[in-house]
Amino acid sequence: MSCQIPVTSHGPPTCRTGDPPPTGRPFLSEDAATLPGMANGSTTTDTANAAAPTGKAARRPALSPSRASDFKQCPLLYRFRAVDRLPEPPTKAQVRGTLVHSVLERMFGLPRADRTPEQAKELLRPTWSQLSKECPEWMELFDGENSDKELAQWLTSAERLLDSYFELEDPRRLDPEACELHVETELSSGVLLRGYIDRLDVAATGEIRVVDYKTGAAPREIGEAKAMFQMKFYAVVLWRLRGIVPRQLKLLYLSDGQALAYTPDEPELARFERTLEAIWQAILRAGRTGDFRPSPSKLCRWCSHQALCPSFGGTPPEYPGWPEPDSGEESVLDRAD
Ligand code: SF4
Repeated sequence: MSCQIPVTSHGPPTCRTGDPPPTGRPFLSEDAATLPGMANGSTTTDTANAAAPTGKAARRPALSPSRASDFKQCPLLYRFRAVDRLPEPPTKAQVRGTLVHSVLERMFGLPRADRTPEQAKELLRPTWSQLSKECPEWMELFDGENSDKELAQWLTSAERLLDSYFELEDPRRLDPEACELHVETELSSGVLLRGYIDRLDVAATGEIRVVDYKTGAAPREIGEAKAMFQMKFYAVVLWRLRGIVPRQLKLLYLSDGQALAYTPDEPELARFERTLEAIWQAILRAGRTGDFRPSPSKLCRWCSHQALCPSFGGTPPEYPGWPEPDSGEESVLDRAD
Protein backbone atom coordinates (compact mmCIF):
# COMPACT_ATOMS: atom_id res chain seq x y z
CA MET A 1 0.00 0.00 0.00
CA SER A 2 1.33 3.40 -0.92
CA CYS A 3 0.57 5.99 1.72
CA GLN A 4 1.65 8.99 -0.27
CA ILE A 5 -0.46 11.17 -2.46
CA PRO A 6 2.11 11.77 -5.18
CA VAL A 7 0.63 9.00 -7.03
CA THR A 8 0.55 8.33 -8.83
CA SER A 9 -18.51 14.54 -21.47
CA HIS A 10 -20.99 13.37 -20.08
CA GLY A 11 -24.77 13.83 -19.81
CA PRO A 12 -26.65 14.92 -16.74
CA PRO A 13 -27.25 12.67 -13.79
CA THR A 14 -30.49 10.79 -14.12
CA CYS A 15 -31.42 9.69 -10.66
CA ARG A 16 -31.03 10.77 -7.04
CA THR A 17 -31.59 8.98 -3.78
CA GLY A 18 -35.06 7.60 -3.66
CA ASP A 19 -35.59 7.92 -7.39
CA PRO A 20 -36.28 4.77 -9.38
CA PRO A 21 -33.40 3.44 -11.43
CA PRO A 22 -33.28 4.78 -14.97
CA THR A 23 -35.42 2.06 -16.51
CA GLY A 24 -37.94 2.03 -13.69
CA ARG A 25 -37.08 -1.44 -12.49
CA PRO A 26 -34.72 -2.20 -9.66
CA PHE A 27 -31.15 -3.16 -10.41
CA LEU A 28 -29.91 -6.16 -8.41
CA SER A 29 -32.99 -5.77 -6.28
CA GLU A 30 -33.38 -8.51 -3.74
CA ASP A 31 -30.71 -11.02 -4.51
CA ALA A 32 -27.80 -10.16 -6.70
CA ALA A 33 -26.01 -13.14 -8.12
CA THR A 34 -23.27 -14.35 -5.85
CA LEU A 35 -20.33 -14.73 -8.16
CA PRO A 36 -16.76 -15.80 -7.54
CA GLY A 37 -14.17 -13.12 -7.08
CA MET A 38 -15.58 -11.30 -4.06
CA ALA A 39 -12.71 -9.39 -2.63
CA ASN A 40 -13.05 -10.34 1.03
CA GLY A 41 -10.69 -7.66 2.08
CA SER A 42 -8.17 -7.87 -0.73
CA THR A 43 -7.86 -6.16 -4.07
CA THR A 44 -8.87 -8.25 -7.06
CA THR A 45 -7.84 -7.76 -10.64
CA ASP A 46 -9.57 -7.70 -13.99
CA THR A 47 -7.16 -7.05 -16.80
CA ALA A 48 -6.62 -7.55 -20.50
CA ASN A 49 -3.39 -7.27 -22.44
CA ALA A 50 -1.55 -6.30 -19.31
CA ALA A 51 -0.06 -7.93 -16.27
CA ALA A 52 -1.64 -7.61 -12.84
CA PRO A 53 0.18 -5.21 -10.57
CA THR A 54 2.81 -6.73 -8.34
CA GLY A 55 3.82 -3.49 -6.71
CA LYS A 56 7.41 -4.18 -7.76
CA ALA A 57 7.66 -4.77 -11.49
CA ALA A 58 8.12 -1.85 -13.84
CA ARG A 59 4.88 -1.18 -15.65
CA ARG A 60 4.01 0.63 -18.82
CA PRO A 61 2.77 4.19 -18.45
CA ALA A 62 -1.00 4.14 -18.16
CA LEU A 63 -3.78 6.62 -17.79
CA SER A 64 -5.73 6.51 -14.54
CA PRO A 65 -8.95 8.43 -13.89
CA SER A 66 -7.32 10.57 -11.22
CA ARG A 67 -4.39 11.62 -13.38
CA ALA A 68 -6.54 12.11 -16.49
CA SER A 69 -8.78 14.31 -14.41
CA ASP A 70 -5.76 16.22 -13.10
CA PHE A 71 -4.56 16.93 -16.63
CA LYS A 72 -7.99 18.08 -17.72
CA GLN A 73 -8.22 20.37 -14.71
CA CYS A 74 -4.68 21.73 -14.92
CA PRO A 75 -1.72 20.33 -16.89
CA LEU A 76 0.73 21.76 -14.35
CA LEU A 77 -1.07 19.95 -11.53
CA TYR A 78 -0.68 16.73 -13.54
CA ARG A 79 3.03 17.44 -13.90
CA PHE A 80 3.49 18.11 -10.17
CA ARG A 81 1.72 14.88 -9.28
CA ALA A 82 2.65 12.44 -12.04
CA VAL A 83 6.02 13.70 -13.29
CA ASP A 84 7.64 15.56 -10.37
CA ARG A 85 5.77 13.32 -7.94
CA LEU A 86 5.79 16.02 -5.32
CA PRO A 87 4.54 14.83 -1.96
CA GLU A 88 1.23 16.18 -0.74
CA PRO A 89 0.42 16.03 2.93
CA PRO A 90 -2.68 13.91 3.42
CA THR A 91 -5.67 15.56 5.00
CA LYS A 92 -7.82 14.08 7.72
CA ALA A 93 -10.70 13.93 5.24
CA GLN A 94 -8.65 11.91 2.75
CA VAL A 95 -7.43 9.46 5.35
CA ARG A 96 -10.94 9.14 6.74
CA GLY A 97 -12.12 8.33 3.23
CA THR A 98 -9.52 5.58 2.95
CA LEU A 99 -10.61 4.22 6.31
CA VAL A 100 -14.31 4.19 5.41
CA HIS A 101 -13.63 2.55 2.03
CA SER A 102 -11.59 -0.09 3.80
CA VAL A 103 -14.31 -0.76 6.36
CA LEU A 104 -16.95 -1.11 3.65
CA GLU A 105 -14.73 -3.50 1.73
CA ARG A 106 -14.23 -5.63 4.84
CA MET A 107 -17.91 -5.50 5.66
CA PHE A 108 -18.75 -7.07 2.30
CA GLY A 109 -16.44 -9.93 3.26
CA LEU A 110 -18.81 -10.74 6.18
CA PRO A 111 -21.84 -13.02 5.82
CA ARG A 112 -24.86 -11.05 4.62
CA ALA A 113 -26.65 -11.15 7.97
CA ASP A 114 -23.66 -9.54 9.69
CA ARG A 115 -23.55 -6.51 7.41
CA THR A 116 -25.18 -4.19 9.92
CA PRO A 117 -24.32 -0.65 11.02
CA GLU A 118 -23.15 -2.01 14.36
CA GLN A 119 -20.80 -4.54 12.76
CA ALA A 120 -19.45 -1.95 10.36
CA LYS A 121 -18.68 0.38 13.26
CA GLU A 122 -17.03 -2.53 15.07
CA LEU A 123 -14.66 -2.80 12.14
CA LEU A 124 -13.69 0.86 12.30
CA ARG A 125 -11.08 0.85 15.05
CA PRO A 126 -9.30 -2.40 14.08
CA THR A 127 -9.18 -1.19 10.49
CA TRP A 128 -7.72 2.14 11.59
CA SER A 129 -5.23 0.32 13.74
CA GLN A 130 -4.05 -1.67 10.74
CA LEU A 131 -3.99 1.29 8.35
CA SER A 132 -2.06 3.44 10.81
CA LYS A 133 0.51 0.68 11.22
CA GLU A 134 0.93 0.45 7.45
CA CYS A 135 1.07 4.24 7.08
CA PRO A 136 2.45 5.50 10.42
CA GLU A 137 2.77 9.04 9.02
CA TRP A 138 -1.03 9.27 9.06
CA MET A 139 -0.86 9.26 12.87
CA GLU A 140 0.96 12.62 12.59
CA LEU A 141 -2.41 14.13 11.74
CA PHE A 142 -3.26 13.57 15.40
CA ASP A 143 -0.14 14.62 17.25
CA GLY A 144 -1.38 17.92 18.67
CA GLU A 145 -2.12 18.74 22.29
CA ASN A 146 -5.57 17.18 22.17
CA SER A 147 -4.62 14.28 19.96
CA ASP A 148 -6.76 11.67 21.74
CA LYS A 149 -9.81 13.88 21.61
CA GLU A 150 -9.18 14.78 17.97
CA LEU A 151 -8.76 11.15 17.01
CA ALA A 152 -11.96 10.20 18.85
CA GLN A 153 -13.88 12.99 17.09
CA TRP A 154 -12.44 11.96 13.76
CA LEU A 155 -13.44 8.33 14.29
CA THR A 156 -16.92 9.52 15.26
CA SER A 157 -17.10 11.45 11.99
CA ALA A 158 -16.15 8.22 10.18
CA GLU A 159 -19.01 6.47 12.01
CA ARG A 160 -21.38 9.12 10.68
CA LEU A 161 -20.25 8.35 7.12
CA LEU A 162 -20.95 4.68 7.75
CA ASP A 163 -24.41 5.55 9.11
CA SER A 164 -24.98 7.57 5.99
CA TYR A 165 -24.00 4.58 3.85
CA PHE A 166 -26.63 2.41 5.54
CA GLU A 167 -29.27 5.03 4.82
CA LEU A 168 -28.45 4.73 1.12
CA GLU A 169 -28.52 0.96 0.72
CA ASP A 170 -28.87 -2.30 2.59
CA PRO A 171 -25.70 -4.37 2.08
CA ARG A 172 -27.50 -7.50 3.29
CA ARG A 173 -29.32 -7.50 -0.05
CA LEU A 174 -26.17 -7.41 -2.14
CA ASP A 175 -23.30 -9.69 -2.97
CA PRO A 176 -20.80 -7.68 -4.98
CA GLU A 177 -18.63 -9.47 -7.44
CA ALA A 178 -15.63 -7.52 -6.21
CA CYS A 179 -14.52 -4.64 -4.03
CA GLU A 180 -11.42 -2.54 -4.76
CA LEU A 181 -11.17 -4.19 -8.15
CA HIS A 182 -8.03 -3.39 -10.11
CA VAL A 183 -8.90 -3.03 -13.78
CA GLU A 184 -6.58 -2.51 -16.69
CA THR A 185 -7.05 -2.65 -20.42
CA GLU A 186 -5.32 -1.51 -23.57
CA LEU A 187 -7.39 0.34 -26.13
CA SER A 188 -6.95 -0.45 -29.82
CA SER A 189 -5.03 2.82 -30.09
CA GLY A 190 -2.46 1.43 -27.64
CA VAL A 191 -3.49 3.66 -24.74
CA LEU A 192 -3.37 1.72 -21.50
CA LEU A 193 -6.12 2.48 -18.98
CA ARG A 194 -5.77 1.48 -15.35
CA GLY A 195 -7.83 2.05 -12.25
CA TYR A 196 -9.51 0.70 -9.14
CA ILE A 197 -13.26 0.27 -8.83
CA ASP A 198 -14.70 0.59 -5.34
CA ARG A 199 -17.37 -2.01 -5.95
CA LEU A 200 -18.65 -4.05 -8.86
CA ASP A 201 -22.13 -5.57 -8.70
CA VAL A 202 -23.13 -8.11 -11.33
CA ALA A 203 -26.73 -9.29 -11.56
CA ALA A 204 -27.82 -12.80 -12.47
CA THR A 205 -28.75 -11.32 -15.86
CA GLY A 206 -25.12 -10.27 -16.36
CA GLU A 207 -25.92 -6.58 -15.95
CA ILE A 208 -23.08 -4.63 -14.38
CA ARG A 209 -23.28 -1.83 -11.88
CA VAL A 210 -20.21 0.20 -10.95
CA VAL A 211 -20.41 1.72 -7.46
CA ASP A 212 -18.16 4.42 -6.06
CA TYR A 213 -18.25 5.82 -2.52
CA LYS A 214 -17.55 9.51 -2.10
CA THR A 215 -16.55 10.70 1.34
CA GLY A 216 -14.77 13.98 0.54
CA ALA A 217 -15.23 17.23 2.37
CA ALA A 218 -15.39 19.38 -0.78
CA PRO A 219 -18.87 20.49 -1.92
CA ARG A 220 -20.47 17.76 -4.00
CA GLU A 221 -21.24 20.09 -6.93
CA ILE A 222 -17.53 20.76 -7.33
CA GLY A 223 -16.63 17.09 -7.51
CA GLU A 224 -19.63 15.87 -9.48
CA ALA A 225 -18.25 16.33 -13.00
CA LYS A 226 -14.94 14.83 -11.91
CA ALA A 227 -16.72 11.88 -10.30
CA MET A 228 -18.76 11.17 -13.42
CA PHE A 229 -15.60 11.41 -15.54
CA GLN A 230 -14.07 8.76 -13.28
CA MET A 231 -17.14 6.53 -13.57
CA LYS A 232 -17.18 6.75 -17.35
CA PHE A 233 -13.50 5.87 -17.36
CA TYR A 234 -14.35 2.65 -15.48
CA ALA A 235 -17.30 2.03 -17.80
CA VAL A 236 -15.01 2.19 -20.84
CA VAL A 237 -12.51 -0.18 -19.22
CA LEU A 238 -15.23 -2.70 -18.31
CA TRP A 239 -16.85 -2.40 -21.72
CA ARG A 240 -13.52 -3.21 -23.37
CA LEU A 241 -12.66 -5.97 -20.88
CA ARG A 242 -16.01 -7.73 -20.82
CA GLY A 243 -17.79 -6.56 -23.92
CA ILE A 244 -20.71 -5.26 -21.85
CA VAL A 245 -21.71 -1.65 -21.30
CA PRO A 246 -22.36 -1.26 -17.56
CA ARG A 247 -26.03 -0.74 -16.95
CA GLN A 248 -25.52 1.72 -14.12
CA LEU A 249 -22.80 3.96 -12.73
CA LYS A 250 -23.67 4.79 -9.16
CA LEU A 251 -22.10 7.33 -6.86
CA LEU A 252 -22.88 7.18 -3.15
CA TYR A 253 -22.10 10.48 -1.43
CA LEU A 254 -21.70 9.55 2.20
CA SER A 255 -21.04 13.06 3.49
CA ASP A 256 -24.51 14.27 2.53
CA GLY A 257 -26.38 11.00 2.08
CA GLN A 258 -27.11 11.45 -1.61
CA ALA A 259 -26.88 8.97 -4.44
CA LEU A 260 -26.47 9.68 -8.10
CA ALA A 261 -26.95 7.10 -10.83
CA TYR A 262 -26.23 7.29 -14.51
CA THR A 263 -26.81 4.91 -17.41
CA PRO A 264 -24.20 5.14 -20.15
CA ASP A 265 -24.73 3.88 -23.68
CA GLU A 266 -22.30 2.48 -26.21
CA PRO A 267 -22.01 5.51 -28.56
CA GLU A 268 -21.35 7.70 -25.54
CA LEU A 269 -18.61 5.38 -24.27
CA ALA A 270 -17.07 5.27 -27.74
CA ARG A 271 -16.94 9.09 -27.71
CA PHE A 272 -15.54 9.06 -24.21
CA GLU A 273 -12.88 6.57 -25.27
CA ARG A 274 -11.77 9.03 -27.95
CA THR A 275 -11.64 11.74 -25.29
CA LEU A 276 -9.34 9.59 -23.16
CA GLU A 277 -7.11 8.92 -26.17
CA ALA A 278 -6.94 12.65 -26.88
CA ILE A 279 -6.03 13.38 -23.25
CA TRP A 280 -3.25 10.78 -23.36
CA GLN A 281 -1.88 12.24 -26.61
CA ALA A 282 -1.92 15.72 -25.05
CA ILE A 283 -0.09 14.36 -21.99
CA LEU A 284 2.55 12.75 -24.21
CA ARG A 285 3.01 16.00 -26.16
CA ALA A 286 3.44 17.98 -22.96
CA GLY A 287 5.70 15.26 -21.60
CA ARG A 288 8.06 15.57 -24.57
CA THR A 289 8.38 19.34 -24.28
CA GLY A 290 7.80 19.86 -20.57
CA ASP A 291 5.14 22.41 -21.45
CA PHE A 292 2.61 21.76 -18.69
CA ARG A 293 0.71 25.02 -18.28
CA PRO A 294 -1.17 26.14 -15.19
CA SER A 295 -4.90 26.44 -15.60
CA PRO A 296 -6.20 28.31 -12.57
CA SER A 297 -9.74 27.70 -11.39
CA LYS A 298 -11.72 27.57 -8.17
CA LEU A 299 -10.25 24.10 -7.71
CA CYS A 300 -6.85 25.73 -6.97
CA ARG A 301 -8.18 26.07 -3.44
CA TRP A 302 -7.52 22.35 -2.98
CA CYS A 303 -4.11 22.37 -4.72
CA SER A 304 -1.11 21.69 -2.48
CA HIS A 305 1.32 23.28 -4.93
CA GLN A 306 0.30 26.92 -5.08
CA ALA A 307 3.74 27.97 -3.79
CA LEU A 308 5.33 26.48 -6.95
CA CYS A 309 2.66 27.65 -9.36
CA PRO A 310 3.28 30.69 -11.64
CA SER A 311 -0.39 31.61 -11.30
CA PHE A 312 0.29 32.23 -7.62
CA GLY A 313 3.72 33.88 -8.06
CA GLY A 314 5.72 30.65 -7.70
CA THR A 315 8.30 28.91 -9.89
CA PRO A 316 8.04 25.20 -10.71
CA PRO A 317 11.14 23.05 -10.20
CA GLU A 318 13.25 22.28 -13.24
CA TYR A 319 11.43 19.80 -15.49
CA PRO A 320 12.81 16.36 -14.68
CA GLY A 321 11.79 14.81 -18.02
CA TRP A 322 9.12 12.28 -18.84
CA PRO A 323 9.01 9.53 -16.25
CA GLU A 324 9.73 5.94 -17.15
CA PRO A 325 8.27 3.46 -16.92
CA ASP A 326 5.24 4.61 -14.98
CA SER A 327 3.78 8.06 -15.28
CA GLY A 328 1.92 8.25 -12.04
CA GLU A 329 0.24 5.60 -10.04
CA GLU A 330 -2.96 6.24 -8.12
CA SER A 331 -2.55 6.11 -4.38
CA VAL A 332 -5.07 4.73 -1.92
CA LEU A 333 -5.87 8.33 -1.01
CA ASP A 334 -6.69 9.12 -4.65
CA ARG A 335 -9.18 6.34 -4.61
CA ALA A 336 -10.89 7.46 -1.45
CA ASP A 337 -11.92 11.02 -2.21
S1 SF4 B 1 -2.58 26.20 -8.04
FE1 SF4 B 1 -4.15 25.88 -9.62
S2 SF4 B 1 -3.17 26.52 -11.55
FE2 SF4 B 1 -1.54 26.18 -10.04
S3 SF4 B 1 -0.88 24.05 -10.30
FE3 SF4 B 1 -2.42 24.05 -8.70
S4 SF4 B 1 -4.35 23.64 -9.79
FE4 SF4 B 1 -2.86 24.30 -11.33
